[in-house]
Amino acid sequence: GKPGWRDRLKGSGIARGLGGLFSRNPRLDDDLLDEIETALLTADVGISATTALVESLRGRMKAREFADVPALRNALRADLVAMLEPVARPLAIDPAARPFVILTVGVNGVGKTTTIGKLAKRYKDEGHALMLAAGDTFRAAAVAQLQAWGERNGVAVIAQGQDADAASVAFDALQAARARGIDVLIADTAGRLHTQQGLMAELAKIKRVLGKLDGGAPHEVLMVIDGTTGQNALSQLRHFHAAAGVTGLVVTKLDGTAKGGVVFALAREFGIPIRFAGIGERPEDLRVFDAEAFVDALLP
Ligand code: GDP
Repeated sequence: GKPGWRDRLKGSGIARGLGGLFSRNPRLDDDLLDEIETALLTADVGISATTALVESLRGRMKAREFADVPALRNALRADLVAMLEPVARPLAIDPAARPFVILTVGVNGVGKTTTIGKLAKRYKDEGHALMLAAGDTFRAAAVAQLQAWGERNGVAVIAQGQDADAASVAFDALQAARARGIDVLIADTAGRLHTQQGLMAELAKIKRVLGKLDGGAPHEVLMVIDGTTGQNALSQLRHFHAAAGVTGLVVTKLDGTAKGGVVFALAREFGIPIRFAGIGERPEDLRVFDAEAFVDALLP
């Protein structure tokens, strides 16, 4: 496997549940399939994806395609990888977009602010001229957190006073970024407003305002999802996708959670690219999502 993934994910419930099965040297029978089903459901892979995976294995087991348990394990691995491969598409910064605008969305607490910091560090290290827009105007702490991060790392952060209009912050930031020849603008947004409709209307307005300045902007609507929230992640994505047209996902906190199987459910239900996975708190723990590395970390 790729360095780091297994190490970071070995404490996760999904790795223990799935990997544990095969290290116990089970027999190749229906009980094993039941155990696989339970492990997948417990990890929040979801009923639909779990049923598809288990019934496919059952059919091939009945047809005597598997000589032994390792053969079945390899088939499961291949099926899991195949489920994720279509969504394991990295975010490509289009150099023709000046700046390339990434609008980050997601509910509070999912790791949105820290993800922006990690992404900003990544793009800065890659040599991109970078700017941040402190668009979570609903939360003074979020603005301060981004500003502090920008100061530490020498990255310009566009902010307005508390309770400023988030769309106006985004508009200002895009104008400033164009004037300064910035390559990548990462805009934060609120994760909570007084009402759900208010939040969704605000996101739509930010998108509209950015699009007025640059028809292609935002180039990416990147939703940050907390991998520990399991099936709730699906309803969050449904809401944000309807309001803002999500084009990419970051699934955070996959280290140490029992619920990381939601990655498979997200892939199956939405097919939206998973750009990055958060497998720890350090900047280098925000990884470009890699289907094989992820599955191999779960299936020793
Ligand atoms: P926000 O409210 O969405 O902006 O959330 P924050 O960025 O403040 O993050 C909330 C907490 O989640 C912080 O303690 C982060 O360090 C933590 N966090 C973010 N991503 C990860 C991850 O991939 N793994 C772990 N273990 N913690 C994370």
